[in-house]
Amino acid sequence: MTARPLHPRSLAAQAMGKIDPLTKAVVPPIHVATTYIRDEDNAYSSGFIYGRPDNETVHEAQAVLAMLEEAKAGALLFGSGMAAATAVFQALSPGDHVVASKVMYWALRSWLLTEATRWGLKIDFVETDDLNKLKAAVKPGVTKLVWIETPSNPLWTITDIAAAAEITHAAGARLAVDSTCASPVHTRPLTLGANIVMHAATKVLNGHSDVIAGALCARQDDDFWARIKTVRKGQGGILGPFEAYLLMRGMRTLHVRQERQSASAMALAQKLSAHPLVSRVLYPGLPQHPGHDIAARQMEGGFGFMLSVQVSGGEAAAIKSAAHVELYKRATSLGGVESLIEHRASIEGAGSPCPPDLLRLSTGIEDVDDLYADLDQALKAGHR
Ligand SMILES: *Cc1c(COP(=O)(O)O)cnc(C)c1O
Repeated sequence: MTARPLHPRSLAAQAMGKIDPLTKAVVPPIHVATTYIRDEDNAYSSGFIYGRPDNETVHEAQAVLAMLEEAKAGALLFGSGMAAATAVFQALSPGDHVVASKVMYWALRSWLLTEATRWGLKIDFVETDDLNKLKAAVKPGVTKLVWIETPSNPLWTITDIAAAAEITHAAGARLAVDSTCASPVHTRPLTLGANIVMHAATKVLNGHSDVIAGALCARQDDDFWARIKTVRKGQGGILGPFEAYLLMRGMRTLHVRQERQSASAMALAQKLSAHPLVSRVLYPGLPQHPGHDIAARQMEGGFGFMLSVQVSGGEAAAIKSAAHVELYKRATSLGGVESLIEHRASIEGAGSPCPPDLLRLSTGIEDVDDLYADLDQALKAGHR
């Protein structure tokens, strides 16, 4: 063996290469125990005491994700993306000021507006893709956290992570990034200066629409990361061992799925840009997208599997087009091997920046010509 470090795809394909010492199995067993034997000297030499704080299968999946994100302080898995995201805010103190992206995953925005404010957090929502607006919103010494999502749901706006980190740190705050739609294949926010990365692991990390899971990764093992661990342990937010196993299986194929999905999304974005029934395509891979130059800098090997289209016939035509898909599945969520379509305005609550004529497309691994043909016939049927 040479001393050359292995590529993340090699490590992920083998889930860090762990072999079961008892049987030599190439797939480690799932650890289901909730409790562990205490030593005669009253210690717990294995490091495991009880299943709520920790679990070995969860540890193994966390190690794969920490490697992918280059997370020096490691990763923590949670029972959902929302459990992971809310743990970050619950690690703050009442009265703390937060700046968050205006365009973001709708359920988290809704939780911040209702629950987090009851908890005493003061939150300002700004268009973080505009660094001047971010700079104006951050209060030095008062702001404790800046939360960005990039590319952000469902308009796929791009926030410059390195520049946002600089602004955030100058004010004495931490930067957290919801990187669900970039995935570590395209972007590693911790290497660009972010402090915390969050994933809805339900999406492309698992990739098969059969696990609800969330994750946080950290650059520094500091007091804030310790608070987050306390929140997970105290509130019982850990992922179950079966889900952790499935997530680890999913991450073994992350690179091949993500590369295929992003290449197909790019091809679809280009073809749909020329479609007579599409008024606008929102995809950071297109040169006319306002975030394209930043995306080209901070996304590597592709621009992700998510895109949105605005249809020329307006809201009714958008809903009718979605009703006519055959290969695409009309469902919420994203990142799975099957392509999904959704009229987003129907699901997002009041105050959503989502235009009513927008259809969100999650690109799977099906044949891209089949996907385009399905969208083409659905758009035509939707405008009849
Ligand atoms: C789905 C999603 C979440 C929430 O994850 P859950 O696992 O559904 O709780 C958060 N952020 C983004 C960008 C998502 O797509």
